Amino acid sequence: MLNWLVRAIHAPDRSRLEQGFRWLYSFVKPQKRAIAGLLGLSFIGSALVLLQPWLTKLLIDEGLIAKDYGMLIQLAVAMVLVGILGTALSGVNRYLHTRLSGRILFALRTDLYAHLQRLSPSFFGGRRIGDLLSRIDGDVAEIQRFAVDSLFSAVSSIIGLVGALVLLVTLSWKLSLLVLVLIPLEVVWLRWMRRKVEVRTREMRERSADLSSFLVETLPAMKFIQSSGQEGRERKRLGGLNDNYLDQLLKLQVTEFFTHAIPGTLTSMTRATAFLIGGWWVIQGQWQLGSLIAFSTYLGMATGPVNSLLGLYVAIQRMSVSLNRVSDLRLTDADIDSPAEPRPLPQPLKGELQLEGISFAYADRDPVLNRVSVLLPAGQKIALAGASGAGKSTLIDLLQRHYDPAEGRVLLDGVDIRELGLSDLRRSVAVVSQEITLFRGSLADNLRYACPEATDEQVREAAREAQLEELIERMPQGLDTPLGERGQQLSGGQKQRIAIARALLQQPAVLVLDEATSAVDEATEQQVIAAVDRLFADRTRILISHRPSTLAGADLRLLLQNGHLREVEEVADVG
Ligand code: ADP
Repeated sequence: MLNWLVRAIHAPDRSRLEQGFRWLYSFVKPQKRAIAGLLGLSFIGSALVLLQPWLTKLLIDEGLIAKDYGMLIQLAVAMVLVGILGTALSGVNRYLHTRLSGRILFALRTDLYAHLQRLSPSFFGGRRIGDLLSRIDGDVAEIQRFAVDSLFSAVSSIIGLVGALVLLVTLSWKLSLLVLVLIPLEVVWLRWMRRKVEVRTREMRERSADLSSFLVETLPAMKFIQSSGQEGRERKRLGGLNDNYLDQLLKLQVTEFFTHAIPGTLTSMTRATAFLIGGWWVIQGQWQLGSLIAFSTYLGMATGPVNSLLGLYVAIQRMSVSLNRVSDLRLTDADIDSPAEPRPLPQPLKGELQLEGISFAYADRDPVLNRVSVLLPAGQKIALAGASGAGKSTLIDLLQRHYDPAEGRVLLDGVDIRELGLSDLRRSVAVVSQEITLFRGSLADNLRYACPEATDEQVREAAREAQLEELIERMPQGLDTPLGERGQQLSGGQKQRIAIARALLQQPAVLVLDEATSAVDEATEQQVIAAVDRLFADRTRILISHRPSTLAGADLRLLLQNGHLREVEEVADVG
């Protein structure tokens, strides 16, 4: 089945698509029973729909024309029962369908998200967030729609088509020959138009993506746009994008109108022909009136499924595009993983770091680090200096294993950090950088982000030690005050203190301040550094800064230059 599907699709990269299908199937498989049940219900539902015209036929022929009132009552009751059953069934069907659909969709999305969580900063640096968003959101939904909706629509279409054809032939094989003309004509027309609809749909999607990209880009930059006085220009751009979108939408609507109008007209004409021929037979007394009416109804029912089945082909193509886009993410290997059997952290953890012959380069770039070796003794304050772009942050990223070195190794208390569990390692090495990430939620939630198990008392204590008390007192609900989007109302110094309180709760063996205080004034910086020295006196502290004053009083001063790290007496001349 998988192979057949993959072969049915024009795809430049078969193996990726095949893996995509395997991935998809692994989510559909656990739902096998639900799918079988739903297929059974769909089958009964389709049969009930096909039953109605037949009851009408009987009502006319056996009740009305035969003047049998008893039969008329029985048939009327049967019609009502079939109607109620059909309605109830479609309600249940819809509910179960949505549940199945939702389960598969959310499982796919969660799996993809979990995979993204394993990827390195390089991956995210090279991708536009809007693009990732549309893959996780739109493309995954498209795949799920195919996996569930198209499957059921195909099954009920086939049942509807075969059922209607069988009943048409039963009613009159001669008149059924009309279908031989109608259906091929429809197939030819719809196939031809489908392609146009596809192109138009894609164009409309692209215009709609332009609109979302515009919003994603400009909404967070509103302050900058206001400062530059370019509100008018952005409004105009939005206006232009809206016009393009509406243009495509209208074009799509016209195309869709003609796609359906022609088959509709063809069906009406065939029906009229059936009435002319069948009506003549009825007048001649060779055919029953009820049969003629039922025939005309089944004729209409036979054409709908043709459209749906042709739509299936397009759905496969469209889904394969989405599946490729999602597989592209799924098949991006995580470069960094926890070892299968991680070693426990040495206890007690002292926080001694040793870099042994570390070399590192970003993909297709010159080396950033070249055989760097150094011992960072436990409990010391280490100043790391170097010009902007020298590789200081890269070095720190290696300590937390956001990347692994190409050569050499990093030891924490004598253990290669690649042998430690990732979460153990990252909990032991805390990095506070200039960019403090704050989430929506209360101040307390933000403080305990890395240590959700911290008690209220511990959170309060950490906040007090990080000198957040003043801020907390001014906030309307204290620690429980919601921070709002990315904590925009907080000053740089306040954010720094929040980061320090977080690190306090985390109790790392190594604390890194990576340009953490460069956004605040020197007085605040001095306070923050003094707090760090006091609170983390026995921990290994690595300070990275442009300001010599920040680095003053370090036990060890290191300078990173041209990929080499060396010990220096003074770091005052680095900027
Ligand atoms: P520093 O922290 O000393 O300013 P970085 O470690 O940030 O320096 O960067 C070192 C070098 O690596 C710079 O030339 C920078 O442009 C490059 N670089 C940093 N991150 C990436 C990345 N994700 N991909 C490619 N190059 C990078």
